[in-house]
Amino acid sequence: HLQIVLASRPDGRPAPANFRVARAPIPTPGEGEVLLKILYLSLDPYMRGRMSAAKSYAAPTQIGAVMEGGTVAEVLESRQPGFVAGDIVLSHSGWQSHALAKGDQLRKLDPAAAPVTTALGVLGMPGFTAYAGLLTIGQPKPGETVVVAAASGPVGSAVGQIARIKGARAVGIAGGPEKCAVVRDTFGFDAAIDHRAPDFAAQLAAACPDGIDVYFENVGGKVWDGVFPLLNTFARIPVCGLVAQYNASGDFEGPDRLPVLMRQVLSKSLLIRGFIQREFIAQRPDFEREMAAWIASGAVKYKEDIVEGLDRAPEAFIGLLEGGNFGKLIVKL
Ligand code: NDP
Repeated sequence: HLQIVLASRPDGRPAPANFRVARAPIPTPGEGEVLLKILYLSLDPYMRGRMSAAKSYAAPTQIGAVMEGGTVAEVLESRQPGFVAGDIVLSHSGWQSHALAKGDQLRKLDPAAAPVTTALGVLGMPGFTAYAGLLTIGQPKPGETVVVAAASGPVGSAVGQIARIKGARAVGIAGGPEKCAVVRDTFGFDAAIDHRAPDFAAQLAAACPDGIDVYFENVGGKVWDGVFPLLNTFARIPVCGLVAQYNASGDFEGPDRLPVLMRQVLSKSLLIRGFIQREFIAQRPDFEREMAAWIASGAVKYKEDIVEGLDRAPEAFIGLLEGGNFGKLIVKL
C-alpha cells in the first residue's frame, strides 16, 4: 500500500522534496466500509493551495498526511450494502494505492456509459466547474465573445465549447502552438492565441474585434493584463482560478492597480464574481445530463493526459502548474 504524503510546505514552486513516499499495510474495512484499489488519480491545480498553510476556502493538508485528490477506484471488498467487489466508483481517496471509504462518499460509475476517467475530467469536477461558472455567472448570449485561458485543459476546453453551444464566439488562450492548434481544431474555438507570444496582447485584440463580453478567469497574470482593456460594458468575469500566481510567495510586486480596476468596474458596469464549484452543486444533475448528451453528439470533445505510476504524481503535478500537461492530467496507477 503506497502513499504519497506532504513532506514539507513549498515556498514558491513545489519541489519533489515536498513529497514523500510512504508505505502502510493494506487496511481492513469495518462495518459500512469498502476497501478500494485506486485505478486513476486526478491531479488538479487546487492541490497547490492544500500544500500551503495560507488561509483559503479549504483547510490545508497536514504535514505527513496523504495528499488529497479525486480518484476512480475498484471495490476489492465491501462491508457496505449496495457495493460489491468489482464495482468501479468515484471516490476522493487521494494520492495512494488503496483506501477505505464509506458508501456515502462513493459514486458508482458505469464503465459501459463512458470511459471511467471522464469522471475526473469532462464529466466530473472540472467539466462541472466550466458549466456552472460559465452559465450561471458568465451567461453568454448568441454573438457575444467569450475568452478563456488554459484553453486546452479540462475547464477551459469545456468553457469554450459550451460558449459555442450557446451561440457565442469562443477565443482560447494557451501556451504554445501545439496547444493552440488543438484548441482550434479539436475543440472548435473560433480563435486560439499563444500567451507566450511577444505580441500576445495585440493578437488577442485582433481576435476580439467586438471586445470581450465574458472573460472566464482561469489564470490571472499577463493574460488578465491583455484582457482588461478589451472588456465591454456589462462584461461578466467568473473568477474560477489564478493558476499563474499559485506558486507566488509573499507580496506581489509592481504598482497598485486597484484604482484603475475599480474605475473600470464602475464605468463599464463590470461583474466580477469568484466562485468555488461546490456552491452550484444543485446544478450537478443538469450538468451530468447535458454534458453526457453533448459528448454523445460530438458537440463537446475532451483530451486527457495520462501519466503512468503513482511515483510520477509529484513531477506531473509540478508541471501542471506551469503548463507541462496537455489535457486533463490523470495518473494511472
Ligand atoms: P489545466 O489542466 O488547464 O492546467 C492548468 C493550465 O494553466 C496549464 O496547463 C497552463 O496551460 C495554464 N497556465 C499555467 N500558468 C500559466 C500562466 N502563467 N499563464 C497562462 N496560463 C498558465 O487546469 P484545470 O482545467 O484543471 O483548471 C483551470 C483553472 O480552473 C485553474 O486555475 C484551477 O485552479 C481552476 N479551477 C477552479 C475551480 C473552482 O471551483 N473555482 C474548480 C476547478 C478548477 P498553458 O500551457 O495553456 O498555459
